[in-house]
Amino acid sequence: MEGEVIRNLTIIDAAHDGAGIGRHEGMVVFVPMALKGDVITCRITKREKRSVRAELVAIQSPSPDRIEPQCPHFYDCGGCTYQTLSYAAEAKLKEDRVKNTLMRIGGAEEGVLNPILFADESDGYRNNVQLAIGAEEDGPKLGCRARGSHRVIHTPHCRLMPSVMRPVYHAFYEYLCQYHGELCTKKGHQLRHLCLRTAQSGLMATVVGYPPALPHAQELASALKQAGAVTLCYHQNTKPGGSVFGPGPMKTIYGDGYLTDTLCDLSFRISPKSFYQVNHAQAQRLYDEGRRYAALGPGETLIDLYCGTGTIGLILTSTGGKLIGVELSPSAVCDARANAQRSGRPDAVFYEGDAGTVAKELLKEGITADVLVVDPPRKGCDDVAIRTIAAFSPKRIVYISCDCATLARDAAKLKELGYVLKKATAVDLFPRTPHCEVVSLLVKATE
Ligand code: SAH
Repeated sequence: MEGEVIRNLTIIDAAHDGAGIGRHEGMVVFVPMALKGDVITCRITKREKRSVRAELVAIQSPSPDRIEPQCPHFYDCGGCTYQTLSYAAEAKLKEDRVKNTLMRIGGAEEGVLNPILFADESDGYRNNVQLAIGAEEDGPKLGCRARGSHRVIHTPHCRLMPSVMRPVYHAFYEYLCQYHGELCTKKGHQLRHLCLRTAQSGLMATVVGYPPALPHAQELASALKQAGAVTLCYHQNTKPGGSVFGPGPMKTIYGDGYLTDTLCDLSFRISPKSFYQVNHAQAQRLYDEGRRYAALGPGETLIDLYCGTGTIGLILTSTGGKLIGVELSPSAVCDARANAQRSGRPDAVFYEGDAGTVAKELLKEGITADVLVVDPPRKGCDDVAIRTIAAFSPKRIVYISCDCATLARDAAKLKELGYVLKKATAVDLFPRTPHCEVVSLLVKATE
């Protein structure tokens, strides 16, 4: 019953969203903020068929892995899940979850999973931070959404934000305060997000808002320049909903309007809207592992589906091999083509469109591939993509995923089509959150 209090509940595991899992009278109990090893009191907030959700009321006996949160915003902020768990325990939790999911859903054999590649730095690792702008009565807010709500909370001390971003954060906040009366209308704030990205070439700030032009652009430009931003862009997004970017125009206020970065010895261009892994050190380890799995020989062909700005494909074929990439986002395809030029690879071809649809067309045209690499968004590959991947009959498939549940589901489908999961490595790109990347190798069952 909702409101019912459960006492002495032992937390035995963690769910995909990080909530603690306990068992009570044959029911699974999900408790956000509770950690594996805690014994707690909780109150049921929602009942479902075979499970309930509950809120943490008190900790009777804390998990030995519990720590004091380092971030002053932790209990309010919805950004981090694991500020109260030691990082070693967090990494182990992720390793176990990936292993169990791949075995249970993906049909992987025991022993397929390598030890997790955990991060050396669990703070300040994000090279991309998207800060929401909120209009509260006591002034503007700049930061993350509150836990379980859309309310924006002010997070100047965010632990995941690297220190180079702080001066720009503060300069922008001053601008928000100065023009609060004008920018804050009855409908809410006119500006929606501040996106900060850092790379080798410096820091890029992108403001997202409703008006066609950035209000007081020149004043903001000189403040952000002084705070260390090398380029400033303005993106008009009038589309309702939570997406930061929309189809609207992107204008460069000053600087290049993009950043450049070096990853696995190659140089990449990153535009404000394009996907680029948020954790540089861990992305290199992920792609290095992918390169070992792909083991592309000279003269072999690699098809890179969901290729983003071309990073994986260009890195995997950097010692030889032909590259064909497919990507849905026009700005990422544009970056991918520029990146191929930068890497001295004008032979690489990139197609804009849906991965499954374009791959099917390539197959019809008689294109062949020795190795396929896929790195889809969280929802994984659709059936057309899965069937087409197998129809190419590649020697190896390297599947990179940010959600081990959809990877496991797709691995099970590929198993029916003749591919077995041979190796997988979890790489923690997102310390303090429940997310984790996995790179896996699937080979033809006969080999
Ligand atoms: N491999 C890249 C990007 C991975 S993120 C890298 O590591 O940098 C997933 C990418 O898939 C994003 O760039 C997104 O724009 C793209 N994407 C999403 N849906 C897609 C679809 N249906 N077809 C092709 N690409 C898609």
